Amino acid sequence: MDCIFCKIVAGQIPSDILYTDDKVIAFRDINPMAPVHLLIIPRLHVTSLNDMTEAQVPLIGYIIYVAKLLAERQGIAEKGYRVVVNCGRDGGQVVQHLHIHLLGGRGLINGLG
Ligand code: 5GP
Ligand code: ZN
Repeated sequence: MDCIFCKIVAGQIPSDILYTDDKVIAFRDINPMAPVHLLIIPRLHVTSLNDMTEAQVPLIGYIIYVAKLLAERQGIAEKGYRVVVNCGRDGGQVVQHLHIHLLGGRGLINGLG
């Protein structure tokens, strides 16, 4: 499968991985929009939120939990942060492997950009 994030999971494309376990990996976004900009993804290929099944509720919940853990480790938990899932063309999804953005380290009150 020609999926860039599956290649990152497989170690075929280098990335700055900050967290890994049997279910998820987290790495720095190559084009950060904030001082802290991490992507947290399931090892399992799920194309987008549109393809999430009810059986994957624990997995996606776990990904949000890992976002919380990483926010603490990155020192942004107290000031706050944003967790974003882009879905589909109008949602701005560019990479077709479900991922959660963790953004922080600056004020995001007025949007992501
Ligand atoms: P999307 O717009 O699909 O929600 O976000 C995809 C994100 O993946 C973008 O913020 C983009 O910068 C990031 N990205 C795309 N290709 C790579 C890559 O090869 N490595 C890393 N670390 N991030 C990537
Ligand atoms: Zn994939």
